[in-house]
Formats: sequence, C-alpha cells, structure tokens
Amino acid sequence: MIKRIGSCFILGLIINEILKGRVNSMSILIGPMKLHLNGHKELTSHGEVKNIVAGKKVFIPLMACTDVLVKAGDTVKAGTMLAKRDDHFKVPIFSSVSGKVLGIEELEHTTGRVIDHVVIENDGLNTFERPFEPIDAEKASVEELVTFMMNAGIVGCGGAGFPSYVKYKGAKGIHTLLINAVECEPYITADYRIMDNQVEELVYGTKTMLKMSGAKKALIAIKKTKKDLIAKVREAVKDTEGLFVEEVPDQYPMGWERTLIYEVFKKRYDKLPGEIGVIVNNATTAIAFSEALRYGKPIIEKICTISGDAVKNPSNVRVPVGVSVQEIVEQIGGYAYDEVRIVGGGPMMGKTVSTDRAVINSASNAITILKPDEDEAIACLRCGRCNDHCPAGILPVRINNAEEAGDVKLLTKLRADQCIECGMCTYVCPSKIEVTEGVRRGKALLRAAAQK
Ligand code: SF4
Ligand code: SF4
Repeated sequence: MIKRIGSCFILGLIINEILKGRVNSMSILIGPMKLHLNGHKELTSHGEVKNIVAGKKVFIPLMACTDVLVKAGDTVKAGTMLAKRDDHFKVPIFSSVSGKVLGIEELEHTTGRVIDHVVIENDGLNTFERPFEPIDAEKASVEELVTFMMNAGIVGCGGAGFPSYVKYKGAKGIHTLLINAVECEPYITADYRIMDNQVEELVYGTKTMLKMSGAKKALIAIKKTKKDLIAKVREAVKDTEGLFVEEVPDQYPMGWERTLIYEVFKKRYDKLPGEIGVIVNNATTAIAFSEALRYGKPIIEKICTISGDAVKNPSNVRVPVGVSVQEIVEQIGGYAYDEVRIVGGGPMMGKTVSTDRAVINSASNAITILKPDEDEAIACLRCGRCNDHCPAGILPVRINNAEEAGDVKLLTKLRADQCIECGMCTYVCPSKIEVTEGVRRGKALLRAAAQK
C-alpha cells in the first residue's frame, strides 16, 4: 500500500544521520543558507543503469498542453508527435513507444497535480520514427538552432521542465553560459551517471548552447567532491574553446540557480539570470539537446534515480517516458516495506504523490521512496531556525502563519512567491513542522489571488 506523506520526513533524515553517527549536529549546519548533507549517493552512484521495459500501456503526461494531435484508435510510433503546448511555449510532446492511442486519462503527475495523459497501448515493437532531422550545429545559424531546440521539445531536464529555447531566443548581453551539473539533492545520481556515460554529448550540447547564447565561455559547474567526474569532463573539454569546469562546494542547495550564480559570480539578480549576463541550463539538458541535434531523437526516455530507504534495490534506470513508478519498482526488485512514501524528485524539493501510478515525464530525474514518518509535529518553538536557514532570505514561519490566517496581503509583503521550495525550513525545524508545505500553500494562495 502506498501511503501519502508530507515533507516532514526531511527532519527525520537529519535526525537519522545524527543518530547513526555519520554526521554530528554541529557539522551539519555549516552556515546560514547552505547545508552539507549526507547524500546517500553511494546507493546508486556506481551501479549499472538498468533498462526498464514499458508495460502494456504507457501514459504520456500533457503538462500545460491543450493542442492534442492524436485521437483514440490512431497508430503511433516512438517519436510520433502527440501534442503541442498551446500556451506561451510551443514545445511538442512525443510518444515514447509504438502502438495504438487508447484515449486521454486524468492521472496524478509527479508534481502532485492531476493532469491529462495520452494513453498508448504499447505494441512492444518499439518502432521509432524521427520526428525531425538532425542538424549540423556548426553550420546552422543561431536562429535555426533556437527553432530546432523548440521543435525538438527540449525542456529543462533537472526537474523543472521549462522549455529551453526561451532562454536563447533573442539572447543579448550574455557573457557566460553556466551548465548546472551540481545535483545537490540527497539520493539523486542520475546526472552524474549520464555525464559519466555521455561526456561527448555533454561537450557537444554545451558547445552548441554556447554558440546560441553569444557568450564567450561556458562553465560546467560540478561539486568539488566529484573528483572522478571533474577529471573526466576536464579532459573532454580541454580542446574545445570556451568550455571550462567550475568546481563548487558540496552544499545544499548549491544546485539552485540563485545560489549557484552567487557562488560563481558573487552577483544577485531580480527575476532572471540574463539580467547579469548569464544563461543557466542543466547538464542533462545539454546532453538531451546533443542527442536531438545529432540523431533526431527527442526526449522519450530518461535516466532516473530510483532510491531511498524503502526500495529494495536503489538504482539508476533508463526508462521510457510514461512508465509508472509501480512498474519501475517491480522491475528493480520491489518495495522494502508494505507502506512507503513516494516523492516525485529528491527528498528536499520533490513533491509527494499519493499513488505509484504516477509516471516518469520528460523532466523527471528521480523518484525517492521512503519509510513512512510516524512522528507527530509539535508546536512551534519560535526558535527562528527556519528563517535563519532560508536561502531565499524570506521568513518561512511568518509565511506559514499568514497562510493559516489566509492573509494574502501579508503573504505578498513577506514575498512568499520568492520561495524555491528547497525544503530547508522543514529540514531544520526541531518541531517537525512541515514548514515548506505551509509556504507552498501560501504561494498557491497568492497565485489564486493574482488570477482573480
Ligand atoms: S521558505 Fe522556501 S526557500 Fe525558504 S527554506 Fe522554506 S522552502 Fe526553502
Ligand atoms: S524552525 Fe520550526 S520551531 Fe523554529 S521557528 Fe521555524 S517553524 Fe518554529
């Protein structure tokens, strides 16, 4: 049985670490706004990447998508365009398997939202058709590359899923392309494994993005503790003009765009990194872009970390988009307990889902599966730790109170919208209060008020 959880497991994580003696309470808190976490990355960082076979049906999520191009009964191949986003971002969505379209079904997504999915009956043949032709990135103009990126459906692969072409369209005054290969959340090692396996693609994708950005240099930011990967990437970029490796501290949330930019450039910005002349893209996005450029392959499969203390064999898997968590876990050995809690993403920033029918999507990088948290929260001690450690510089406990009171004016004043949902406030709370959940609800309240 799959049990719904909140994010209060994060405190359990830290307390467990202390009790196990792997870290001590003094060494965890290495300074305001950043923590060094025991990442549990050894569970998956060096094992084989297991291939997951899609079952009889796959469910392709239609995030923010209104223009569906197929109907029940249509035959599709892996690579067939199923839909196109019809909002500000015209990116397409492709089938990951060949077979027959059965219709549209509402399902919980790994973000916790219930959205439409195209249901495809998998014929098991995996017949592929190129939805677009490869392109010579050296010869293509910047405009052609931006259009290519849009039509290839390249989205941020670090979990956000933001259409990447938007960052390059009309980019001006950019001095640096920053490739985010930090992967700071506990348990997740998918980026590490992909970069280790596909370093040439990383270089090709980054080189092309550098051309599109108009910048003089690209920095590939990797945690300084990843010595083997740093050496490998340095070797791979040594003959490519403008590409460099940037070592950054092993702290959380170093992978958050603002933290990373501050670490590298010692600058802050208001809304977008472009304001200070920087474009940021995830390392696996660069790899996915390279595969599109060179092979005409859209993002129809993902390498994801399936890890946590409630899965028997934590693993990195190569899985077609649209395959459920349940099917993946079955194929890697099953759950370790009858009741588990499932998080779409890593344990800090990921969202809890109530069902293991949720599927892998083009932005997925991890599913974390944990033991249910039995401990109850107690009253706020007013210790102020959550405020002290918030990397966004806002006041989580006050935002929680404002949310409970439904005070939209105060939520606006407290800048609840600035929260990056990093999970740090819950992590440090000694009362086991799900502070992050309260701030998330506060943000939702603000959004709803803005829509009115
Ligand atoms: S308020 Fe948001 S940004 Fe600040 S610590 Fe909590 S989750 Fe992180
Ligand atoms: S960390 Fe927890 S106990 Fe301390 S002020 Fe914040 S909500 Fe209250």
